[in-house]
Amino acid sequence: ATMPPLLSAIANAGRHGVLVKSAVVMERIGQVDAVALDKTGTLTEGVPQVTDVVPLDASGLTGDELLALAAGAERPSEHPLARAVVEAARDLDVPPAEGFHSTPGTGVRAIVAGHEIAVGSPARLLPHTAHPAAAVIAGLEDAGRTAVLVTRDGVPSGVLGIADRIRADAATTVTALTGLTGATPILLTGDNPRAAARLAAEVGVDEVHAGLLPQDKVAAVRRLEAEGRRVLVVGDGINDAPALAAAHTGAAMGGAGSDLALETADLIVVRDELAAVPAAVDLSRRARRLVK
Ligand code: ADP
Ligand code: MG
Repeated sequence: ATMPPLLSAIANAGRHGVLVKSAVVMERIGQVDAVALDKTGTLTEGVPQVTDVVPLDASGLTGDELLALAAGAERPSEHPLARAVVEAARDLDVPPAEGFHSTPGTGVRAIVAGHEIAVGSPARLLPHTAHPAAAVIAGLEDAGRTAVLVTRDGVPSGVLGIADRIRADAATTVTALTGLTGATPILLTGDNPRAAARLAAEVGVDEVHAGLLPQDKVAAVRRLEAEGRRVLVVGDGINDAPALAAAHTGAAMGGAGSDLALETADLIVVRDELAAVPAAVDLSRRARRLVK
């Protein structure tokens, strides 16, 4: 017997490196007419590296001490930024963490070497914008870096600059999705507006929503769906899982994707090639023409 069109489309998608979880999903993905993309780990490779270690004078810390404390707090986290911090501290004596706590879209907190160390989004952790750390942060963000604030017992003690490469197929994927859906994808990110705008310009995205918490990503998806759009969300992190669930179709990046994102998504980009996403939309449309 010949295979039903949707099943052979699933097999074909598999050859492109996309795991489509069901025939229903294979059918639905062709209906999408709007796309929302996450930044870190989705449009970027998700293998960020620490480029700058800047202790604040008042902290009395050296760069290595700052990095070791941050790495202690980050070690239990699976976030790509956490892995970058731990990797940068690989040759240092990193103290163990107790009472680790992580807040998606914000950062981590733990007791390290007897102090409460928090590492995360300056927008959420910096007490006021006139703080001396703000100028350091602005300088790094203008350079396209993600700036991460380190606080010790609630007091800002330093800033880490982190940079991540844009995926080689990010711009062509944006173009392909625009062609298939008739609408340019939008960017939904928890990162800062400056780094987000810079990346958006490089990949050809016009609409950027930055500084978002996981529930803000959901709200953005629901707004589009309330306008009658069928939204495809592509993401990788725990912070994307609620938006992946709320979307008409959710796609997770398989390589560095968090378990929760992989479980929640309707399809998984197994080989970590973003271009497989428009390929799956196209395969769905071809299969639907054969079914009708
Ligand atoms: P994106 O939406 O681009 O994938 P996230 O929502 O995962 O980004 O993170 C948003 C912001 O929260 C980061 O840019 C960073 O400032 C902060 N953050 C989240 N998790 C961590 C972490 N483990 N370590 C440091 N910063 C973090
Ligand atoms: Mg992400």
